[in-house]
Amino acid sequence: MPSDPSLAHENRLRANLEHVQQRIQDAAHRVDRSPDAVSLVAVTKYTQLDLVQLFHKLSNSPLGENRPQQLIERANQLPQDVNWHLIGQLQRNKVKAVLPYASLIHSVDTTRLLNSINRHAQELELRPRILLQVNVSGEETKSGFTPSQLISNWEEICQFRNIDVRGLMTMAPNTPDEKIIRESFRGLSQLKDQLNNDSEEERLTELSMGMSQDFEIAIEEGATLIRLGSVLFTGCEPTS
Ligand SMILES: *Cc1c(COP(=O)(O)O)cnc(C)c1O
Repeated sequence: MPSDPSLAHENRLRANLEHVQQRIQDAAHRVDRSPDAVSLVAVTKYTQLDLVQLFHKLSNSPLGENRPQQLIERANQLPQDVNWHLIGQLQRNKVKAVLPYASLIHSVDTTRLLNSINRHAQELELRPRILLQVNVSGEETKSGFTPSQLISNWEEICQFRNIDVRGLMTMAPNTPDEKIIRESFRGLSQLKDQLNNDSEEERLTELSMGMSQDFEIAIEEGATLIRLGSVLFTGCEPTS
């Protein structure tokens, strides 16, 4: 280990990143997909700012934050060229503040929130890109549209002029059972196809699914965006 801690972190980050890229490539090849069709979103919610800065020097992946407030603070502290993705729950009273900073919002989970985003976007003359969060597995504790809610609200959702709906997002159930995880990712992919069939044009292109524990399954099931935190930053925990 180099004695300079930031150099040690840089080496570790680079190794983590290379390892993840290899795993992405292998998973994509298993199902005859191009690895280029899978984009990495580096989730920095638990990562200290100096490490995030270091990561951004090694990779131009978008950075994902869970909380609007931290996203805004960090967007003001890091270079302008960072693409920030909001991946966590968005309350309506934070919409106006975060819209100018987020290049993609993964976690839009109600039509009320869509209404609010549309209204503020109009005022700000923006057309934010968003994903609709889906609770595929129907767990009580999870937020998101159920598939049937999304299907019945689809026409209404397509009417929002100031919102660019790019795709769907889900989180797999928290279980070691690979079969259940795969079913939930497959369900999201099928829902996307069904909604596209119900539209005049193919509106939905993105599938945001897969985290550190399950991203390879997600890639095999068609993920275009994977959201990885711990697997990228492991080994770089702050030293005291
Ligand atoms: C924290 C978080 C992630 C990343 O989780 P890891 O297990 O650290 O990869 C991905 N998506 C969402 C919505 C999260 O909140």
